[in-house]
Amino acid sequence: MILIPIRCPHCQNANICRNGRTSTGKQRYICKNPECPYKTFTLEVHPYYGSRKEVKEKITAMAVNGSGIRDTARTLKISPVTVLSELKKTKKNRKCESKVTSSA
Ligand SMILES: [Zn+2]
Repeated sequence: MILIPIRCPHCQNANICRNGRTSTGKQRYICKNPECPYKTFTLEVHPYYGSRKEVKEKITAMAVNGSGIRDTARTLKISPVTVLSELKKTKKNRKCESKVTSSA
């Protein structure tokens, strides 16, 4: 079993305790540092690796470099469906951006 040390995102203190769950079911932690400004925090855990921002950026970068959907999926170890849906989203975003810049 690999134990990943959890640190407080506010003060980087590793002396933390579990403190129940939030209304959305996320694990809540309490920071034991008396000088910590926030005391409690939750960790953002994404259920799917493909939903992470870095992966989205990699998908876009690979598409720009001419990689196919299957190649991108294999390289990033995600499903081609994820690649495809991300590329569709990116195209939508670009349309919005160009509209904004042309009207400004
Ligand atoms: Zn803290």
